[in-house]
Amino acid sequence: MYDWSDEHRAIAQAVRRFVDERIRPVLDDLEHGNLPPYGVLRDFYRTFGLDELARERVARRLARDADEPRTESSPGDVAAQVLATIELCRVSPGLVTSLGVSTGLAAGTVLRLGTPAQIERWGRDLATLDAVGAWAITEPDSGSDALGGMRTTARRDGTGYVLNGQKTWITNGPFADVIVLYAKLDEGDGTEPRERRVLTFVLDRGLEGLEQSVPQRKMGQHSSPTGDVFLRDVRVGPERLLGESESAPGGGRVSARDTFVTERAGVAAMALGIIEECQRIAVAYASERVLWGQPIARYQLVQLKLAQMEVARINVRHLVFAHLERSAAGVTPSLAEASAMKLYAAQAACQVADDAIQVLGGNGYIADYRVEQLSRDARVLRIYAGTDEMQVVAIARDLIRD
Ligand SMILES: Cc1cc2nc3c(=O)[nH]c(=O)nc-3n(C[C@H](O)[C@H](O)[C@H](O)COP(=O)(O)OP(=O)(O)OC[C@H]3O[C@@H](n4cnc5c(N)ncnc54)[C@H](O)[C@@H]3O)c2cc1C
Repeated sequence: MYDWSDEHRAIAQAVRRFVDERIRPVLDDLEHGNLPPYGVLRDFYRTFGLDELARERVARRLARDADEPRTESSPGDVAAQVLATIELCRVSPGLVTSLGVSTGLAAGTVLRLGTPAQIERWGRDLATLDAVGAWAITEPDSGSDALGGMRTTARRDGTGYVLNGQKTWITNGPFADVIVLYAKLDEGDGTEPRERRVLTFVLDRGLEGLEQSVPQRKMGQHSSPTGDVFLRDVRVGPERLLGESESAPGGGRVSARDTFVTERAGVAAMALGIIEECQRIAVAYASERVLWGQPIARYQLVQLKLAQMEVARINVRHLVFAHLERSAAGVTPSLAEASAMKLYAAQAACQVADDAIQVLGGNGYIADYRVEQLSRDARVLRIYAGTDEMQVVAIARDLIRD
């Protein structure tokens, strides 16, 4: 059975120390001030040598045949990433969202689909976090129907393209140096918009016609800036089309779906961090808070909540461990499996965080104890990377082979 090794535990300890020394002192600025997360995240990357590891991974990727199908991470990398995710999510899940989108989704897409020149130009800096990345598919009028309902267009213009449209709620959108962006090829031949090909482009901040909004106000995950991206006649050369071919293998729709799998499995690890921390806080509080002459942990209605938190923790931990075990064996989850993981884990994290608030009573609602923040932060796990309902659709479709 999979379990954390001594080495893993040492990594977790080291990350915890980093969190205490470098993140907690600026947590309020990250959550309520205007401190963007990238300084802290770069510090994290450099402290643990993750930028160097990423550089080596990119070099290995470039040394390989460009057409070879690939996974970029070794099993050891995956376990370390999961550990880091869990530890960071105890204190600020938004940091993981920003980091995951930049080094996971944006860098991952360029490394998977890019030509060597594109990997040299954008992939390396994204992977090392020297450049902040965004990954933009959602639009105001598409949302869950992200691929079918996409309205952003790419029109051919000589050898290049002209892009028009709007992307919404894009993590890192306000600050991204590089944006991996999906658009529909408008060939002007009357093909129904739903049927048009989806192309993936890489855009740099400052391109003429490209506008990045300021961060939007939202319920939680304040340490992860979210914003809109507007495209007005943005002219791009063919070198910005990922894979430099409209029919690159694994491009467009396939690329977006692959990314959903990675994202959804990652959300389960985020949920585990939130669950473990909320449970830790709730157990400690219930053991110390004395009412009617005894700790509230002695009351069965409180015990029920603590026990249900434990059931959730065990279940989500098993899901994460099973994922790590299978990753080590080179097995990637199917979309339905990743969706099932995400659906369960996200709901469990929200329930546990909400129960933690209840166990702490008024203190649960007050910011000092952090469970209110974790509860607000957890909520979006049921929305981004596909809503709960979209996970249900993916799972059910697989069952009925629709
Ligand atoms: C903080 C945050 C960060 C984000 N970061 C990114 C990012 O970096 N990049 C990016 O591209 N996107 C990002 N998103 C967008 C996110 O992926 C979408 O919000 C999500 O996919 C849902 O789309 P929607 O919000 O438009 O909801 P809608 O699709 O409008 O859905 C509204 C409701 O209808 C339900 N619904 C829709 N269709 C069906 C159906 N067929 N059956 C049953 N119920 C249905 C939904 O489940 C939901 O409950 C982010 C969102 C947030 C809030």
